[in-house]
Amino acid sequence: MVNNELEIPMQFDIHIQCADCDGLGTHDHTAHGVNANGPYVDVTEQNCYVCEGQGLVYVGRETYDNLSDLKSDYPESIVQNIETRKWA
Ligand SMILES: [Zn+2]
Repeated sequence: MVNNELEIPMQFDIHIQCADCDGLGTHDHTAHGVNANGPYVDVTEQNCYVCEGQGLVYVGRETYDNLSDLKSDYPESIVQNIETRKWA
């Protein structure tokens, strides 16, 4: 049995889900008020200021031998392989 998985160190750009907006990228801003028609509720979506609406926060660039090592360090991460440009 031959193991074809080569373990060549790879560089990844690591992003994790934004904790401030739970990865949504936006916050619902609720305004209550009263006008001529009575009380109203105005819900507007605002971009999260932590992740600037991306839903992800950039952690940095790190080198790993394989993707599973990376995922064990950053279980909730979304990463991009620098060389292949593939997201995982
Ligand atoms: Zn956010």
